Amino acid sequence: MSARAKSRRRSRTVHGPTDRVVVVGAGLGGLSAALHLAGAGRDVTVVERESVPGGRCGLITDRGYRFDTGPTVLTMPELVARPLQAVGEEFGDWLRLHRLDPAYRARFADGSTIDVCADVHDMADEIRRVCGAKDADGWLRYVAFLRELYRIEMPHFIERNLDSPLQLVGGPLARLAALGGFRRLSRKVSQYVGDERLRRLFSFQAMYAGLAPAQALAIYAVITYMDCVAGVYFPEGGMHAVPRALAGAAEKHGVRFRYGTTVTAIDVVAGRARGVLTGTGERIAADAVVVNADLPVAYAELLPGRTPPRRVRRLRYSPSAVVLHAGSSAEFDDLAHHTIDFGSAWEATFTEIIDRGEVMSDPSFLLTNPTRTDPSLAPPDRHTYYALFPAPNTTGRVDWVAQRERYRDHIMETLEKRGYAGFEAGIDAEHLVTPADWAARGLAAGAPFAAAHTFGQTGPFRPATLDRRIENLVFCGSNTQPGVGVPMVLVSGQLAAQRITGRG
Ligand SMILES: Cc1cc2nc3c(=O)[nH]c(=O)nc-3n(C[C@H](O)[C@H](O)[C@H](O)COP(=O)(O)OP(=O)(O)OC[C@H]3O[C@@H](n4cnc5c(N)ncnc54)[C@H](O)[C@@H]3O)c2cc1C
Repeated sequence: MSARAKSRRRSRTVHGPTDRVVVVGAGLGGLSAALHLAGAGRDVTVVERESVPGGRCGLITDRGYRFDTGPTVLTMPELVARPLQAVGEEFGDWLRLHRLDPAYRARFADGSTIDVCADVHDMADEIRRVCGAKDADGWLRYVAFLRELYRIEMPHFIERNLDSPLQLVGGPLARLAALGGFRRLSRKVSQYVGDERLRRLFSFQAMYAGLAPAQALAIYAVITYMDCVAGVYFPEGGMHAVPRALAGAAEKHGVRFRYGTTVTAIDVVAGRARGVLTGTGERIAADAVVVNADLPVAYAELLPGRTPPRRVRRLRYSPSAVVLHAGSSAEFDDLAHHTIDFGSAWEATFTEIIDRGEVMSDPSFLLTNPTRTDPSLAPPDRHTYYALFPAPNTTGRVDWVAQRERYRDHIMETLEKRGYAGFEAGIDAEHLVTPADWAARGLAAGAPFAAAHTFGQTGPFRPATLDRRIENLVFCGSNTQPGVGVPMVLVSGQLAAQRITGRG
């Protein structure tokens, strides 16, 4: 390869001094960036407006219950280990994980269930039992496809800062195309399994990327690899233990945390960030600034007077979610840690939420029961439940402030109808979070799953981690590369650090 072609493929880095770095936000992306930067010898200050780390991976405590507010499905724990390793810390000294088996239980409208077993061969047996030998064989072939997809995507497309599509041209792109990565996800899954229930089970993950399975590209089956093959874990103490551990390790290695401090502006002089201004009028000087606050909101609020790049102005957002947290005396024997309750409707559900901006008429939802794995999250003989109902974001037709109570009642009715009898009666602590609440917490379009992973908002087409016009301003988090979800934002923090350290 010529020297010119090589330099075209290299990603840009921050020029000039980078000794002191301010990170705005202690979400998982910001914590990952802080640890990688501290590990590379930078002097790091994290400024976080809340009183605790974690951002979306937060915690509500109420009457002896501990509710995780955001992610519940932890995949790829090695990506949590990586920022810890950056400062020489051992994962096992900070977190204890349980691998969930089953990773999920799927309940279908016809009353049947399929467990997503931790072991791929146990899963083949489960499929053979419920759907027959042909689909069991199809599953094993699908696993081989997923493994290959992951092997190509991770180093070449995900764990890489991308400034231009030209950086992708070459062997890996051709291999991805030959593998069928640019076909539609639902069609790709159908190539391997015939049973409609399995097709749903192996393609609903498109929703995590903000798309209907019929529209998502098969490259997003990498999410299915992460949860159905590589496995789902749960940390002792709940998901919030993850940001606690990362923040604890960062502090141990000299990172300063300024909790309860809101950044009101990034101080930019002559195309270079010189520090941040806080709500109390303080100026914290920096040689480089990493922004973990939601990228579109950061452009609008922290960089006033600067027009966001066109790519940011035109972002299309993923659907949102209504989450009901319940502490309860009710117990349901046939629930797993994660149960996906599918309605009869399928394509129509995506049309309602994504295209029409309406609520689901025949809901499919995730019901998580964390105390099944860690009873310490509730008082004795009590249980925690987390019901996540996908919903349109705030660009849709629903007035979430006005509809809040009605939708809460709809969730309760749906749960009762789907067989969780006595769900509402057993509740003694309850919290509801709607898209309006996500918006109030600083998430663009009330979309906790960020910009949708359409082709035009993926890889080099997603907002980059380095701003083109402010040479030392770097972004991390779900609205930048590589994307949304715990594994991806941890990678984004590493990519942001690489922009500053030049290592990568
Ligand atoms: C309900 C829900 C369920 C989810 N389920 C899963 C799942 O099961 N598995 C999975 O992998 N992912 C899941 N996700 C996605 C995952 O949680 C997110 O992608 C990830 O946590 C986002 O991290 P982040 O670093 O991008 O941002 P955030 O967590 O939003 O962190 C940004 C931080 O910046 C702070 N901040 C913002 N503005 C300022 C300011 N001006 N000054 C100072 N601080 C500021 C915020 O307070 C926050 O702490 C879920 C998300 C939600 C909400």
